[in-house]
Amino acid sequence: MQLLDGKKLAQELKDQLKEEVELIKAKDRKTPKLVNIIIGDDAGSCTYANSQKKVAEYIGIKYELKSLPANCTQEDFCALIQKLNNDKSVNGIMLHKPVPEQIDYSVVANYVDTVKDLEGVNVTNIGKMILGETNIIPCTPASVMEHLKSTGHSLRGLEVVIVGASQIVGKPLSILLLKEMATVTVCHIGTSEAGRLEEHIARADVLVVAVGVPKLIKGEWIKDGAIVVDVGINVIDGKVVGDVDFETAQEKASFITPVPGGVGPLTVVLLMRNGIEAYKMQKEQS
Ligand code: NDP
Repeated sequence: MQLLDGKKLAQELKDQLKEEVELIKAKDRKTPKLVNIIIGDDAGSCTYANSQKKVAEYIGIKYELKSLPANCTQEDFCALIQKLNNDKSVNGIMLHKPVPEQIDYSVVANYVDTVKDLEGVNVTNIGKMILGETNIIPCTPASVMEHLKSTGHSLRGLEVVIVGASQIVGKPLSILLLKEMATVTVCHIGTSEAGRLEEHIARADVLVVAVGVPKLIKGEWIKDGAIVVDVGINVIDGKVVGDVDFETAQEKASFITPVPGGVGPLTVVLLMRNGIEAYKMQKEQS
């Protein structure tokens, strides 16, 4: 079994992006700038924003955090997005989740200018991703793809099973995998309710799990030699664990991501890569 070391992949990409930003600064005399909008004071969001800031500083791009109060209205949120859309010094906008219940995330996500949509979450960018017409790819699925690439195995013709069908992970990931000519099955709560999760997992050459249920996937369900990518982040008794029972899964897997230290660290760096892609797109359009 080999560990898929997300921290190592993250460091390599950070160094590559740092060089790219140095070239941009030397050539354009400009520094790409990203803005993250955060609502309220959710501790998890603040920690994530802090790690983004550190990565941005390392790479050499500007990063600004804009906060709105927890009781802000959807109009307040949209007005701030509009202001940032119109601000030529801002190249990328990220909307931090969770948002309070008075905000409809799917509506506000579509307020973000398509060329500033850091996470690739607005409908235009999702559509372009399906058609293969954009380099702005949602960061978590992109991180999963980079982990799979690092194994050195081609995905062509492999049985890939994704557990979890969310808008931000499972669904976009299925599209990226199809592009690599994998045979993709996406499982969700309906699969579990039908009692068929284990049978799908048993034939997976590659298993990706993004559910949010600690240790849902047992090692004995996994095919010998499978590549296992665990996206889940759950906290039990103050300890971070994934959706896969790592102890038993490592006995079966040929490659497996640890949690923490797997998909997460690279996801943050890929957000910065999207920011640089957004900068380049805006430069082309100006
Ligand atoms: P969502 O809650 O949006 O989606 C969860 C998905 O899992 C849904 O499709 C749901 O099915 C499915 N599901 C829930 N329970 C089961 C079950 N028992 N069996 C099969 N499928 C099930 O979660 P996210 O996609 O946002 O996040 C998933 C996990 O990944 C979380 O732990 C989150 O913290 C983590 N995460 C990690 C990131 C990273 O960078 N490492 C980034 C983003 C998320 P249905 O659609 O039918 O409801």
